[in-house]
Amino acid sequence: MSMNHVRPWRNISRRKSRQIMVGNVPVGGDAPISVQTMTNTDTSDAKATIEQVQRAAVAGADIVRVSTPDEASTRALREIVAESPVPIVADIHFHYKRAIEAAEAGAACLRINPGNIGDAKRVSEVVRAAKDHGCSIRIGVNAGSLERHLLEKYGEPCPEAMVESALEHVKLLQDNDFHEFKISAKASDVFLAAAAYQALAEATDAPIHLGITEAGGFVSGTVKSAIGLGNLLWSGIGDTIRVSLSADPVEEVKVGYEILKSLGLRHRGVTIISCPSCARQGFDVIKTVSALEERLAHVTTSMSLSIIGCVVNGPGEALMTDIGFTGGGKDAGMVYLAGKQSHKMSNERMIDHIVELVEAKAAEIEAAKDAAE
Ligand code: SF4
Repeated sequence: MSMNHVRPWRNISRRKSRQIMVGNVPVGGDAPISVQTMTNTDTSDAKATIEQVQRAAVAGADIVRVSTPDEASTRALREIVAESPVPIVADIHFHYKRAIEAAEAGAACLRINPGNIGDAKRVSEVVRAAKDHGCSIRIGVNAGSLERHLLEKYGEPCPEAMVESALEHVKLLQDNDFHEFKISAKASDVFLAAAAYQALAEATDAPIHLGITEAGGFVSGTVKSAIGLGNLLWSGIGDTIRVSLSADPVEEVKVGYEILKSLGLRHRGVTIISCPSCARQGFDVIKTVSALEERLAHVTTSMSLSIIGCVVNGPGEALMTDIGFTGGGKDAGMVYLAGKQSHKMSNERMIDHIVELVEAKAAEIEAAKDAAE
């Protein structure tokens, strides 16, 4: 991530982690922070799962996880992997055979806690399969499923117990000379998750997968994730993220991206700056913004757009955005391009016009990028 020397108060200094690969996506080191989600279809229904993976990928998911609780799921995985535009992580709990099958089926990464799958022989069989098939592993510690001996030692889930759990699993992998792993330490409580991740970041140089687990429904989960993940990312911790919402995986991806975009850690698509609207608005800001969000969802080129109800804040915001529209006179407003007042446009035609302007600007930016390569 480039440092901003003009505005040092925007700098985030990322923790230095090792880099691993999840399929063709680098995680850790100086790789962009990747956005993940998880399907909620029945994995054995390959068609439905592929469809969901593809929708998530279009929304910007870099990596998608699927649960593989039984043989029917690991059988379907082969087809899912073949059709997926992004690397697939197989989520395994307890059964080492599912992990081996998932590796054979082409999973890019296994989410498994090696301490939970049985004796050392089973762990080394899983590690062998991961090595043979180029899989990385995510050790996924969860405050809600800590090992009994740690709960007895610490009395309750706490950061120390979560880190100790992670390090025990790490040791099992290292004993098998396996180092392509990343770690998560999730909790539904933001304080616990943040403290566990901070301690984990000190204790290891492994890449870190961030998440607030069981965060809740769309609104509460988004707020909780933005606070928990935002705080960690701001302090430089986190190499890949998943926002957990009781909502469509596409929403998880959108929220994940918005968190990273808010912190300047990733850039993708149109960032809309809009006012909350009030009696001064020259057009219906809320309706317009929601129409534009929908009509501009396909644009992946990073750019900014300000949609402001009136001249109180419109010209100021337009100064800092690529394209701007400010409500004003009778049934019309002012279009700004690159911060400068450009031309008037009727409220009626404004949405179509803005979409055309954004698409043209995106094409121009992409052409300039191609020419520079
Ligand atoms: S920019 Fe204008 S319309 Fe929007 S909230 Fe402020 S005063 Fe109201």
